[in-house]
Amino acid sequence: MDAREIAKERCEKLIRLAGETKDARLSKRYITLARKLAMRHRISLGGKAFCRRCGTVWVAGRTLKVRRGKKATLYICGACNYVRRFPISGKKFEVI
Ligand SMILES: [Zn+2]
Repeated sequence: MDAREIAKERCEKLIRLAGETKDARLSKRYITLARKLAMRHRISLGGKAFCRRCGTVWVAGRTLKVRRGKKATLYICGACNYVRRFPISGKKFEVI
């Protein structure tokens, strides 16, 4: 097992913890750590686990609204209203 795989596991764990905790500050901290780790080890986090603008973890129905547009699925952040578009036919995004 190399460092990258260990880092990926840790990123997954951090994102899971961020979704479980009730403390919003702690949750954002976990996301910050996961992003830093992912950047250092060049890991893709898929873009659907948290908001890239404010760092809020995305939990469907709680901190995330999912809308179907004509050409894209829209992921709307519940905290800052940032809209992330995922084209319906196009590159597949990996969900972590
Ligand atoms: Zn946001």
